[in-house]
Amino acid sequence: ETNLLWLRQDLRLRDQPALVEAAAAGAVIPVYVLDDETPGDWRIGGAQRWWLHHSLASLAKDLKAKGSRLILRRGVAVDVLKELLEETGATAIHAIKHYEPWSRKAEEALGEALVLHDGNHLAPVEQITTGAGQPFKIYGSFWKALRQHLPPDQPVPMPRSIKAPDAWPKSDDLADWDLLPTKPDWSTGFADWTPGEATAQKQAKAFAANRKDYDEHRNLPSQDGSSRLSPHLHFGEISVRAVWHMVEDDAPDDSFARELGWRDFTDGVTLALPRYADENGRPKYDKLPWRNGAAAKRDLKAWQTGQTGYPIVDAGMRQLWQSGWMHNRVRMITASFLVKHLLIDWREGERWFWDCLVDADYGNNAVNWQWVAGTGVDANMWGRIMAPLAQSEKFAAADYIREWVPELAKLSDAAIHDPDEAGCRPDEYPAKIIGHREARERALAAGRAAR
Ligand code: FAD
Repeated sequence: ETNLLWLRQDLRLRDQPALVEAAAAGAVIPVYVLDDETPGDWRIGGAQRWWLHHSLASLAKDLKAKGSRLILRRGVAVDVLKELLEETGATAIHAIKHYEPWSRKAEEALGEALVLHDGNHLAPVEQITTGAGQPFKIYGSFWKALRQHLPPDQPVPMPRSIKAPDAWPKSDDLADWDLLPTKPDWSTGFADWTPGEATAQKQAKAFAANRKDYDEHRNLPSQDGSSRLSPHLHFGEISVRAVWHMVEDDAPDDSFARELGWRDFTDGVTLALPRYADENGRPKYDKLPWRNGAAAKRDLKAWQTGQTGYPIVDAGMRQLWQSGWMHNRVRMITASFLVKHLLIDWREGERWFWDCLVDADYGNNAVNWQWVAGTGVDANMWGRIMAPLAQSEKFAAADYIREWVPELAKLSDAAIHDPDEAGCRPDEYPAKIIGHREARERALAAGRAAR
């Protein structure tokens, strides 16, 4: 018997339950389908195409070492897989479950030919619900329920060998997919990243061994306090339960596990509300008077390119563009700035992140953007407005700003948060795009108008 192994955001051989089942049944044909049609506007963004290219190359190498291959096809995933079933005479398709609306649509359309496995979460997403069977809207309550299911299952062992089929179907050439940027090639700034399972494992082990004061350090942009596992986790180069067992088995507190739990939570939200990336969680916010004229377009551009005159915001946006990633605290500050200070629709920011982040994730991005905006189903309120200067000081961002906004490097730790105040000339660094008090009042008025 031969089975297809449909790989999506689970580009790994370790703790890969779909592979284990397919291999136990006989020969395996591993397939990756580049589908830019089914997800519509949520097709893979620019930075992630770079990541995907390297991750697929790495996976193909790992499969080859096991006597197997990675078959690459392009097109509507459901059609491509049905064709492959016919072409190869395979009995079934094994895959790990995913929760993006287009993933679930494809899973449904494949019907009985598809055998789905859990394996991308700490606990099966459908099982963590309220007593009434509804999804949780508030993370605190979700976490309490998820904890009852921890520790997660142990990772499943990797098959010792993977049996090849009698004949291999044709595969596209990865280079023909043109996933890498060329003109311009902005990916030189991604040099710190190495996509692929081997690095994901190495990174998780190093974090487990060296993690100190995660709870405090993860909030300090100038420190390397978080795991930087997000793109590896998004692409499933390592499973979240493997990370959990590496890091938490002897952990004195559960602050890191709590962050890992967010991944499960956001998939629960998008399972219940599949259009969460496009629609306000609370419909009353549909009436927010977003700015969208020429001035707003200029402001959006200033935000995207890191020219707002607020160093912490500009440092974050430049880090995002240049490295494909941004520190979590700064994601909150920059997102809040776009939505509240500039009064620009959170969906504009969500899109920009989608295209620029190597860890862009449908659930994580949408839920976090709506959380910051205060438009979501959870508890954050529109009236909660982050003060960028106070945040920058409180979280000691001076060195972080020096790294990403080098024109300010000579300012002192005290002065660097507010160059206007320190007497910086506009030809050295832009003046503030809007004053904090003025922005705050405008945002509060917009909230009142929506109600
Ligand atoms: P660590 O602190 O080491 O956390 C470990 C893992 O837990 C992360 O890799 C991630 O998988 C998960 N995690 C941690 N915090 C969150 C969170 N708030 N929500 C969901 N998962 C979390 N994360 C994404 O993976 N993809 C996104 O597209 C994304 N968009 C975001 C947009 C905004 C506006 C904000 C405020 C946050 C967003 N996040 C997103 C969440 C968070 O910023 C990143 O997961 C985190 O910074 C990744 O760095 P790390 O791996 O070092 O995190």
